[in-house]
Amino acid sequence: MSRSAQETRKRVLLAKPRGYCAGVDRAVQTVEQALEHYGAPVYVRKQIVHNLHVVRSLEARGAVFVEENDEVPEGSIVVFSAHGVAPEVHEQAAARNLRAIDATCPLVTKVHHEARRFAKDDYDILLIGHEGHEEVVGTSGEAPQHITLVEDPAAVAGVEVRDPAKVVWLSQTTLSVDETMQTVDALRQKFPLLQSPPSDDICYATQNRQAAVKAIAPDVELFLVVGSANSSNSVRMVEVAAAAGAGAAHLVENAGAIDPTWLDGVTSVGLSSGASVPEILVREVTDWLAARGYGDVDEVSHTEERLSFALPQELRRELRAKS
Ligand code: SF4
Repeated sequence: MSRSAQETRKRVLLAKPRGYCAGVDRAVQTVEQALEHYGAPVYVRKQIVHNLHVVRSLEARGAVFVEENDEVPEGSIVVFSAHGVAPEVHEQAAARNLRAIDATCPLVTKVHHEARRFAKDDYDILLIGHEGHEEVVGTSGEAPQHITLVEDPAAVAGVEVRDPAKVVWLSQTTLSVDETMQTVDALRQKFPLLQSPPSDDICYATQNRQAAVKAIAPDVELFLVVGSANSSNSVRMVEVAAAAGAGAAHLVENAGAIDPTWLDGVTSVGLSSGASVPEILVREVTDWLAARGYGDVDEVSHTEERLSFALPQELRRELRAKS
């Protein structure tokens, strides 16, 4: 191939890891196994994971998505989503005699435990996260008297604590690593004795997907992240791609959402997908790009992921009893 042909070779740089994380895989399997074991309908409180394709597929198999427990008929099975719930949601379920299966990701549960522990020791907890996100609502519900939400560095000026020597920060699991550290730096300037969580709250999957995006972004004129608009980790990946030097970065629900004009003058396209996105949606995007001359796909691997989580114990118990 001549040098100029090489230079204009249209290609896709496909980030790895991408797509399903261990927590999403477990949550989706939980609903699938519950449907198989109990039969339809199985009620699911909130979107089991933030991806429209996954929700529609499970609906087609008999899952019924609701916003709150009071929409679930008494005595029915209800699955709680991967994002976690406040203790009062468990209490409401018990009061309605619902059979609850908790598909909260164990890495979110870890943050709940931290919140409970620091609240028990009477700390003020500064929770970095996005207001209204289900995970933040669930974590805040563990210790509402002790938790103050801090959205970004600009919010730090308004944060007050009772005792600046007894203050700790925790975070939502799906934030931008860099932005979170900026917020922590701002908090630490205000509260020099601020303590950090015992281990990273931003989960391995969020960190790995962002690092893989960062490695590719400087080399592409266009970066596409497959994911739903309400998926926090997917939206953060788009921001990371733009900040790391991609010419343009867009979130797309699926191949049908790509605007062909985005490809004008583009030689290299970066591609990844959020932690709640099935690989078939990425395949559809690579097919769409191949049909427009971007058939050359190089997978760029940042790291291998091997983590997996067992199904929720209440479901495992049922499945064991059956076998
Ligand atoms: Fe769990 Fe992280 Fe996946 Fe959220 S993104 S479900 S915290 S592994």
